[in-house]
Amino acid sequence: MTGSKEPDELSEEFLKSLQDDDPFGLNEEMETVLFECADCRKEDDVPDFVVQDFQVYLKKNEEVEIECPFCGGTIRRAKKSPK
Ligand SMILES: [Zn+2]
Repeated sequence: MTGSKEPDELSEEFLKSLQDDDPFGLNEEMETVLFECADCRKEDDVPDFVVQDFQVYLKKNEEVEIECPFCGGTIRRAKKSPK
């Protein structure tokens, strides 16, 4: 090893990797809700605050429906059946 890497270069790469992974430092605290598409059956993690946003306009017994990012259908909160 020649040890030719400049310290500046290292920290620049480090900062860049931080930005790529988690630009706002939210990942650790952000809760997500699992949604499942009724059409293509794909699953998507929707941030909890987005779900709350939709919930505001609904009655208590209504479910949040979001447009599926994969097929344009409707995704709803996934029903997890505990076994
Ligand atoms: Zn879909």
